[in-house]
Amino acid sequence: MSEQPPAVPRPPVAEACRVRVIVDTPQHSGLSGPLDYLSPHPLEAGTLVRVPLGRREVLGIVWDGGGEPGAGGEAPTPESLRAVIEVLDALPPVPRGWRELVDFAASYYQRGLGEVALAALAPELRQINGTQLARRLKRLRSRLSPGAEAPATAERPVPSEDQREVLQALSQSTPRVHLLHGLTGSGKTEVYLRESQRMLDAGRQALVLVPEINLTPQLEARFLERFPGRRVVSLHSGLTPALRLRHWLMALLGEADLVLGTRMAVFAPMPRLGLIVVDEEHDPSYKQQEGARYSARDLAVMRSRIEQIPVLLGSATPSLETWHNALPAAEGGAGRYSRLTLAHRIGGGALPAVRVVDMNRFPAKLLREQPVAPPLMDALRERLARGEQSLVFLNRRGYAPVLQCLECGWKSGCPNCSAWRVFHKQDRSLRCHHCGYTQTVPRACPECGNADIQPVGRGTERLEEQLAQSLLRADGSPARVGRIDADTTRERGKLEATLASVHAGDVDVLVGTQMVAKGHDFRRITLVAAVNSDSALFSSDFRAAERLYALLMQAAGRAGRDARHAGQSEMWVQTWSPQHSLYASLQRHDFPGFARGQLDERRIAGLPPFAHLALVRADARTQDAAQQWLAQASAWGSDLAASLGVVIYPAVPTPIQRVANVERAQMLVESASRPALQRFLAQWMPGLHALRTPRVLRWAVDVDPLAI
Ligand SMILES: [Zn+2]
Ligand SMILES: [Zn+2]
Repeated sequence: MSEQPPAVPRPPVAEACRVRVIVDTPQHSGLSGPLDYLSPHPLEAGTLVRVPLGRREVLGIVWDGGGEPGAGGEAPTPESLRAVIEVLDALPPVPRGWRELVDFAASYYQRGLGEVALAALAPELRQINGTQLARRLKRLRSRLSPGAEAPATAERPVPSEDQREVLQALSQSTPRVHLLHGLTGSGKTEVYLRESQRMLDAGRQALVLVPEINLTPQLEARFLERFPGRRVVSLHSGLTPALRLRHWLMALLGEADLVLGTRMAVFAPMPRLGLIVVDEEHDPSYKQQEGARYSARDLAVMRSRIEQIPVLLGSATPSLETWHNALPAAEGGAGRYSRLTLAHRIGGGALPAVRVVDMNRFPAKLLREQPVAPPLMDALRERLARGEQSLVFLNRRGYAPVLQCLECGWKSGCPNCSAWRVFHKQDRSLRCHHCGYTQTVPRACPECGNADIQPVGRGTERLEEQLAQSLLRADGSPARVGRIDADTTRERGKLEATLASVHAGDVDVLVGTQMVAKGHDFRRITLVAAVNSDSALFSSDFRAAERLYALLMQAAGRAGRDARHAGQSEMWVQTWSPQHSLYASLQRHDFPGFARGQLDERRIAGLPPFAHLALVRADARTQDAAQQWLAQASAWGSDLAASLGVVIYPAVPTPIQRVANVERAQMLVESASRPALQRFLAQWMPGLHALRTPRVLRWAVDVDPLAI
């Protein structure tokens, strides 16, 4: 027997293993799945790496399923693969639950996996290499206080009976989705705090989502005060890149016990996650409006399923989708979530009495001259005489929504958009709130030369001016009127300053947009008025009534937080359609009744939650081009749609058809079955990417759009 030939040393390439890595590739490149690279040794899924991509070096994440071929289709030979440049092994891999969430989000919202995953990392990670990362980690660890003793528990308020029942139900429940339905001031935050405490004590992490950056410092302070010795970090777009990376790293390393943040925080990597809270779950800002148009609320629910942990959705006015899911089958609901109710305000404060003012009763001339209807004016004067504060709410900033020439009818349109330019008196400008186009107000009508051009309608700036002119304090001096809107709070610290002067009692009447309706706690305000609420009711948005109800309830919640004034606090609503059922429900503070009526309408009309929608939008130079592309897309999908029971509606212009000289059109896709819609989109989308598309045309799909 001849001897075996001596073993030939294997070439290094064969020794290396193939790893699948996702990187942020443009969705239209066809490279949206993982790409194959070579690594000298196996890499665990979730490991962050730097890899070559074309001529660039980019950040990537090792993805699951190392054995199968990547997005290229056939398994490439090892020789053709490029090598991983650097393994960022100073970091633990991102957890499996996180990867599953990203997988779900990419496929559900029809975006590239790499795009969604990389956008969910701290942006600063793309800028630094392994050495720099190691240095940051070293600095981070040196800053963390060494193993704190068993954390001292701060004093906690005694829970109300409502709260006790809710907490008991939560402690006995298996992990699931809970709707925490509670009035403003009923103590939802205390439930969040106690549930978080329970999880932290069990060695888990908690994630708390809030709709607005402005609300994070308040809540952060409250959590820190309650959990001394625990690490609470925030995640939102207002942080510096370095701080955002630090907080993100603390979450991933398990060093942060509690992460508090806006919608982006739903992707915080947390290896010991035990609870998710979504406060004000109905708030539209949980929906991302560009890129992957995800709903952080819906992803939180999905994440809780993936991780087998409870999620608490809190609201005084839940979204109708959530309400329907939490309604027992016996009441016509889906019975998927548990419903927990906090029916009483802490301290027994009553909700303000709601007064509806029928604006049809007053002559138009009077309403043009006076800032608000006479009975509301009287009510404001009464407050002034008693030294109490009022909040007047108008969701339209600027002085007047349009300027008009009384001679020839010219109006201050925007040359780039199908919208009016708003008159701002402070700097005498005409500004388009859609494209930003700004000009000084012309001295005379640009059409006919008439010098008499008039503001039409009323924005917060004019309301502030008119109220200051018509209201006097008890001592005869003019009323002190403050204003909070996007114009007055642009400067850093301005919002806080105005809020402080309200709290100090230096403001008699506060005028504001919906900015003031959210979260801010005004102890001394006893009257809240919404002066032009139902402009929203006449929009094409099927969620208009739901939104308005939520906004009015939230605004009402600003009044009478102080028990001393609770009995006399009022909410005033001026409306031209007082017969709308919304106002009757509002007066009874009857959200369930309101929701029942709305859900009945939605059921009949075939709208969410009884139908599932996707919106395809196309932007182009001309309306024709945009609609033509959509028609092409529709034709391509029509057979498939019919076979799956999916309806594609004809393309139409968007509600604001032209913005910044771009024409916009949209097309609604609808199905009674969510899985059918998902199957359709999954098969239809690749074809849309392959359609002949003019260079100047942009298109995008929005699954579960907020407005249609
Ligand atoms: Zn004119
Ligand atoms: Zn414009």
